[in-house]
Amino acid sequence: MTVYAAPAFDEHENVVFGFDRETGLRAIIAIHNTNLGPAVGGCRMWPYPDEVAALEDALRLSRGMTYKSALAGLPFGGGKSVIIGDARKDKTPALMRAMGRIVDSVAGRYVAAEDIGMTVADMDEMAKVTKHVTGTSATSGNPSPFTGYGVFQGIRAAVAHKLGHNDGLADVQVAIQGLGAVGFDLARRLHDAGARLHVADINGEAIARAVDAFGAVPVDTHDIHAADVDVFAPCALGAVINDRSVGELGAKIVAGSANNQLAEDRHGAELAARGILYAPDYVINAGGIIEIAHGADFGGTHDEATIFAHLDRIHDTLLEIFERADAEGAATNFVADQMAEERFRAA
Ligand code: NAD
Repeated sequence: MTVYAAPAFDEHENVVFGFDRETGLRAIIAIHNTNLGPAVGGCRMWPYPDEVAALEDALRLSRGMTYKSALAGLPFGGGKSVIIGDARKDKTPALMRAMGRIVDSVAGRYVAAEDIGMTVADMDEMAKVTKHVTGTSATSGNPSPFTGYGVFQGIRAAVAHKLGHNDGLADVQVAIQGLGAVGFDLARRLHDAGARLHVADINGEAIARAVDAFGAVPVDTHDIHAADVDVFAPCALGAVINDRSVGELGAKIVAGSANNQLAEDRHGAELAARGILYAPDYVINAGGIIEIAHGADFGGTHDEATIFAHLDRIHDTLLEIFERADAEGAATNFVADQMAEERFRAA
């Protein structure tokens, strides 16, 4: 296994391999960049097939956090930690405390947040041995409405830029893939703004609620990306923009909450070549980390007016990305990366 030559290695400041004899904990903390502040990012527990896969994930995800926080205007760097194991079978309070001690060993250069395989109770257990944890029961809230609001603002920006609708979303047609915590919140905000909704979910109950509450048109989960609408909002899975789907898209705009919407970076260029405006996922879905930044763990008061004012900046950041992409003839995901790099490298 190599670290410096690993495909996802990108000038990471620290990579810490942790082991605890008593619990058998094997974990990696990747700190990508701390120019703008402590590296804040999720702690993920996943049954990786081997440590190469765990390392790749930690390297890739920590880098992503640097870019996300930089463009969200936060005083945070980028980090991520991964625990190799099955959260359903291998997780114990002792294992969480062992992870907390490894987090503590990097002395606040990394702050752990909840991620896949972790719960608020796990963060509480880690917090018994380190103060460098966010999202404990003392401080955690539900990020989804904040993420939903940020995505709504991002859709407003994309619709204004691409369709010239500067006066709102009345009669704009939006296809939402996934009516979960974020997707349903987004649906409500769009409906209140006068948009017309087309929705797909593998959960029939969520569809029924959206049809009932918003007069949404149900669409088969296999066809939602191809719906003939103005905006496609992926709010379920990653890699929805791929070699197969990119030629089938029915919308002029792709803007939703899902992480890693592009199967590969080059699919951003393919969208641009087809005249489809893409709101880079890590810019539009930053509401959750913006909320965290205003909470007690970072000296804030969780004042909602302040948080929503910060979320409004997602709209302006996206407009800046769209305008620069037009001026440079570049794909929006490329421009977003470039703007993030300008911010964290200059710091
Ligand atoms: P969730 O689990 O509450 O909702 C996901 C929804 O997608 C569920 O209703 C599920 O039934 C549906 N779904 C699953 N497979 C589907 C398919 N093939 N077709 C259509 N629908 C399908 O998750 P969430 O918290 O709403 O997050 C949605 C996405 O946004 C995820 O990619 C998540 O990583 C991302 N995200 C969420 C937040 C947040 O604050 N919750 C923040 C940033 C990014």
